[in-house]
Amino acid sequence: MSRIFNFSAGPSTLPDVVLKQAQEEMLDWRGTGMSVMEMSHRGKQFMSIAQELMQDLRDLMQIPESHKVALLQGGATAQFSFIPQNILGDKNKAGYVNTGAWSKKAIKDAGRFCDVSVVADAKDSNYTTIPPVADWEQVADAGYLHYTSNETIHGVEFQSIPDVGDLPLVADMSSNILSRPVDVSRFGLIYAGTQKNMGPAGVTVVIVREDLLGRTRDSVPPVFNYQQQIDNDSMLNTPATYNWYLVGLVLKWLKQQGGIAAMETINRRKADKLYQAIDQSSLYRNPVDKAYRSRMNIPFVLADSRLDQEFLDLAEQNGLGSLKGHRSVGGMRASIYNAMPEAGVDALIDFMQEFERTH
Ligand SMILES: *Cc1c(COP(=O)(O)O)cnc(C)c1O
Repeated sequence: MSRIFNFSAGPSTLPDVVLKQAQEEMLDWRGTGMSVMEMSHRGKQFMSIAQELMQDLRDLMQIPESHKVALLQGGATAQFSFIPQNILGDKNKAGYVNTGAWSKKAIKDAGRFCDVSVVADAKDSNYTTIPPVADWEQVADAGYLHYTSNETIHGVEFQSIPDVGDLPLVADMSSNILSRPVDVSRFGLIYAGTQKNMGPAGVTVVIVREDLLGRTRDSVPPVFNYQQQIDNDSMLNTPATYNWYLVGLVLKWLKQQGGIAAMETINRRKADKLYQAIDQSSLYRNPVDKAYRSRMNIPFVLADSRLDQEFLDLAEQNGLGSLKGHRSVGGMRASIYNAMPEAGVDALIDFMQEFERTH
C-alpha cells in the first residue's frame, strides 16, 4: 500500500493517523465489540463520541456560549436554501456578496425564499479579487448579509472578517473552516460541509447565534429546523454516526497539532511557498489579486495549455493526484487543506520546477 499526495478539492485528503486509528477501531471500538457504525446513536458509547466532538469543536474555534452548534445533513448546499427560511424571521430580504461559483449558488438558491440583494459583485474581475467592503451597497431592511469566506473554485479568500455593522453576518466557511482562527462572536451564522477541512462528506456544521433561533418558517422540515435540531442534540433523526466519529478524530488530531493558531502558521507557510514558486516561474501563473489569494485552494494555469494533460499525467506518475482544475475554470488547482502535509507541497513544487526545466 502506498499513499499519494492528494490535492483534491473535496472530498479531500485526511491525516494518515486518523485513517489508521479508524482502521484499528473498525471492528471493535474500545473493547465494545462493535464498530462505531453499528452502535445506537442513543447509546452511551456514541453519546460520548458526540459530546467530545461538540466540545472539541467549541474548544478549537472558541465558540462563545451565545452560539449554538447543529450537525446536519444535506451539505452546505442544503443550507443555501435553509438559512433564509430559518433566520430571516419577519424580514424578507438578504444581502449577498458574489465572489465566485459558490456565492453564485448560494444567491440562486436563497432567491427562491427571499429577495436577494447582491451588495457587491466580483464578476467583472472574473472572480480574481474582492470588492472593498467600504464600497458594498447598504441594504437597510436585510435580515442578514452572506459571504463565502473562501471560494474553493476561484481560489479567492477573505483575509479578515468584513465589518457590516449590526447586520447578522453569515459565512459559508466550507473550505477554510479550522484553517485559521476566527472570532466566532462576530457572526450570526457560520456553516460548512465537512469534506474539505474537517473529515469525510456527510456532515454539515451550522454555528448560529442564539437570538437568530426560534424564527423558522413553519414550512421548514423539522430536520432542517435549527432550533429543533439544537434542542435535540442534532439527533432529531439518526445522524451520520460514522461520519461524526471521523470528524471527531480529525478534531482530536487538530488539537494534537496545537490547535488552529498552529495550523494557521503551517498553512501560511505552505501557501506562501507554493505562490512564490508560481510567481517566480515563467510557465505557471495564478490570476488572483495577491491581497485575496486563498491559502487553501491554489489555482494556476500553464502558459501553454497544450501541456496541461502531460503535466497531470506526469504529476500522477510522481504520486501527486487530483491537480486538475475545476471544469469551469480549467488549468490546475492544488487544494492544500490542513491535512496536506508540508512535504506534499514541497513535492509539488519540486515536480513543477522539474517540469518547467524539461519543457
Ligand atoms: C464544497 C463547497 C460547497 C458545497 O458543499 P456540499 O457539501 O457539496 O453541499 C459549498 N460551499 C463551498 C465554499 C464549498 O467549498
